[in-house]
Amino acid sequence: MTDTALRTADQPLGKRDLMKRFAAYYRPHRKLFALDFGSAVAAGLLELAFPMAVTVFIDRLLPTGNLGVIALAALGLLLVYALSAGLHVIVTYWGHMLGIRIETEMRRKAFDHLQKLSFGFFDNIKTGHLVARLTKDLEEIGEVAHHGPEDVFIAVMTLIGAFLLMLWVHVPLALVTAIILPLSALITMYYGGRMTRTWRAIYGRVAEFNARIEENVGGIRVVQAFANEDHERKLFAENNRNYLATKLEAYKVMAASMSLSYLSMRFVQVVVMLAGSYFVVHGELTPGGFVGFLLLVNVFFQPLQMINTIIEMYPKGIAGFQHYLRFLDTRPDIADRPAAIEASGLKGDIEYRHVRFGYGSDRPVFGDLNLKVNAGETVAFVGSSGAGKTTICSLLPRFYEVEAGSILIDGIDIRDMTLKSLRSHIGIVQQDVFLFAGTIRENIAYGRLDATEAEIAEAARRARLDQVIASLPAGLDTVIGERGVKLSGGQKQRLAIARIFLKNPPILILDEATSALDTETERAIQQSLADLSEGRTTLVIAHRLATIANADRILVVEEGRIVEEGSHAELLARPDGRYRTLHAVQAAAR
Ligand code: ADP
Ligand code: MG
Repeated sequence: MTDTALRTADQPLGKRDLMKRFAAYYRPHRKLFALDFGSAVAAGLLELAFPMAVTVFIDRLLPTGNLGVIALAALGLLLVYALSAGLHVIVTYWGHMLGIRIETEMRRKAFDHLQKLSFGFFDNIKTGHLVARLTKDLEEIGEVAHHGPEDVFIAVMTLIGAFLLMLWVHVPLALVTAIILPLSALITMYYGGRMTRTWRAIYGRVAEFNARIEENVGGIRVVQAFANEDHERKLFAENNRNYLATKLEAYKVMAASMSLSYLSMRFVQVVVMLAGSYFVVHGELTPGGFVGFLLLVNVFFQPLQMINTIIEMYPKGIAGFQHYLRFLDTRPDIADRPAAIEASGLKGDIEYRHVRFGYGSDRPVFGDLNLKVNAGETVAFVGSSGAGKTTICSLLPRFYEVEAGSILIDGIDIRDMTLKSLRSHIGIVQQDVFLFAGTIRENIAYGRLDATEAEIAEAARRARLDQVIASLPAGLDTVIGERGVKLSGGQKQRLAIARIFLKNPPILILDEATSALDTETERAIQQSLADLSEGRTTLVIAHRLATIANADRILVVEEGRIVEEGSHAELLARPDGRYRTLHAVQAAAR
């Protein structure tokens, strides 16, 4: 992967490159591929051999009248059929195993890669698309991986083989067939193509209403709060009608396709029968050759269907594989430097030196930010919304990368540490806590996955979550619902705090941790937060100024610049200061 890791995501991939990378997925499964491919080819050859066996049976064995030999031949035929059945087992089971192995390997790689991508990537994607890419797209690629190379080979082999055998049996009859068969082939292939297109339209419809249902369920609280159920019902009814119409269209095509293909196939057979009879009557063709020939005509139709499917499946698989590779080639904007060190035991001295940063668009959030925080100090950021407070804090764990300047912890540039070791030193509590849909225990343990039962209980106690837990019948094993919907805002915040107690980092970021709570709950949580920040370097962002009055230092941020700095008392003492104004506004509102 080293050569491709250097490629930027938007460079198009050449056909050869694509094939090379596709083939690379087969390499670990060489034996499985050989087994599957070999079996499929053998089964295809047997399929060609049956009509010839029938010819020999009718022309050579039947005339002898020797029932013993005929019985023996029948037994032989049975054995060959059994062999063919066995080959089909291999192709179906081990062939699909090859496909699914490749599919799961691709999915594992894609998920691994997903974990490495940075916030900047996730800011700009649609979750639904990404999920589809990791599930349905890869499933299709898996199918192509199994059927693609094998089916192409076998279809071509069977077509050529069947025609050579026809020539061998009787050249003029073979030529007659060669003239009328393409007609039937065209009809079959035309309808095959239309069929696949309608099926694809159906998948699209299904995806549409999957998305509709997902959104409806996700937003059901908003739907019901606005009493917009009728509106939702109408939207869904439309999706459902579209689905119905598309499906009916598909069945129409299917009906036409089945009857016309059937008729054209039978037409070819009848013509061959007529022409063949003529040659038999004139003594140019044996009865056995005649029957064998008719069977060969039948063998012809299956590969035609196969080629049809491949023609439709191939571009889809290729497109899916291209999407997949493009995703895999998206370089994480933030990754470990080769010489990055495993930082450990950092005290938590922080320094921002001439930091410039913007979110990629027009104007930067900061042009030249300078900031020093001593280990153990609590520094509060205040300022209007959009001033850049959250952004300052997001740069410290390298969720985003500075454009110029540097950020140091204990004098070490954070880009010289591994991401993992850097982030192990930082704990973050935000306004909207994300909780996983498991139990309280699992969510606390997310702070440190190897924590013991006693450590989890201790973290819960220090976050003052123990009383809540004690009041629940299932205690720590209480399932909290998706995103923790079964907990109150204050309880969720306590859970987030417990998670950080368990992690025990020297640096703490509290980004509006209590802003969403009512004043009373806020006051209650405040004590837990104070306990948490004890002995840690703390960056706190607060909307309500009352909650940060005790900070060692308060920084007022305006448009990406620190415009005032000092303790609560110092800043209040400044006439016409920004802090003083903010404070007056909030006091008046109360
Ligand atoms: P604050 O926390 O002080 O309210 P932020 O740091 O969140 O402010 O935002 C600073 C500026 O950066 C705002 O103009 C905001 O619109 C922009 N911004 C914040 N996050 C992103 C993002 N993920 N992508 C693009 N722009 C962003
Ligand atoms: Mg913010």
